[in-house]
Amino acid sequence: MSNITAEQIFNALKGLVNPDSISGLDINKKGEILFALSVDPAMGAKMEDLHQQVEKTVLSIKGVKKVTAILTAEKSAQAQTPKTPDPHGMGKNPVLDLPIKKIIAVASGKGGVGKSTVAVNLAHALAKTGKSVGLLDADIYGPSVPRLTGLPNIKPDTNDENKLIPFEEHGLKIMSIGFMVEQDTAMIWRGPMVQSAIYQMLRDVAWGTDEAPLDILVVDMPPGTGDAQLTLAQKINLDGAVMVSTPQDLALLDVRKGIEMFRKTDVPILGLIENMSTHICTNCGHEEHLFGHGGARVEAAKLHIPFLGEIPLDITIRQSADQGKLKGFEIFNEIAEKLNL
Ligand code: ADP
Repeated sequence: MSNITAEQIFNALKGLVNPDSISGLDINKKGEILFALSVDPAMGAKMEDLHQQVEKTVLSIKGVKKVTAILTAEKSAQAQTPKTPDPHGMGKNPVLDLPIKKIIAVASGKGGVGKSTVAVNLAHALAKTGKSVGLLDADIYGPSVPRLTGLPNIKPDTNDENKLIPFEEHGLKIMSIGFMVEQDTAMIWRGPMVQSAIYQMLRDVAWGTDEAPLDILVVDMPPGTGDAQLTLAQKINLDGAVMVSTPQDLALLDVRKGIEMFRKTDVPILGLIENMSTHICTNCGHEEHLFGHGGARVEAAKLHIPFLGEIPLDITIRQSADQGKLKGFEIFNEIAEKLNL
């Protein structure tokens, strides 16, 4: 058990690097230290000297067993100017003039990583904090929210103003493109059709009223980083994006591409979640690392984005999804709290 503190590390590196160039510092119980160090690429070959000096200096701290400093030359995402949460002071989304205070996206570089599972459970956890929360399933390629929330094969009604009434279930207001179309037809949607459908689900759904706007809308994005995703991110003026990845997909460029996409559109990245991180044995509760472990934490440090947590590969998560029940897993409460929305 080590008692190394962040302060000790910053103190040791004082004369060597600017403290602002250090991010994603992680100190584990075994005395292993990991952080990202952003450097000016103009330093050229001197970068490596500095790298070694930094690692050596941290390694000389009592109790430190191993040091990994990841050199990056990227601009910090956190250094981006945060968006004014409510520039009009009216509790409305400024672009589409929606009665929604904050819109956050749950995104992934590719399909099948558990993006929808995370979106649903995260929305549920956010609702438990007392906020009014909506869940919009904008995954046109495979809308799974109806199934995950136990609402398959039903169609929404409209109100007097001709707006679609979202389903109220699990303490959430729920709308999905899957309520409107058959699952198979959803697959062939392209370009403008996709956008108008998504617009419709933002504008023409009774998410809230001017007097009582919805606090948070969680959008389950289509997977990937193509045009549909880019336009969506641009047009709806997202307040932030959460990226989901599995450990084995981290080596691929998908996560990076997703993060780049949001950076291009000036959407703040709220953090990275590693899903299907460890396997909990159903017989004995023992935790196993099937696909390697901690990759997302390293990747988050490299990309200068917050690491939000690891979700285990857990049969009860799948079962609750299959049954359309939301059980309230503690890990999602922790992530909701970290997001601090
Ligand atoms: P995506 O939206 O990225 O395509 P889904 O959320 O639909 O992925 O998840 C894909 C499959 O993996 C589903 O069957 C889901 O129940 C399962 N799954 C997702 N996350 C977990 C987890 N942490 N543990 C067990 N099963 C999971």
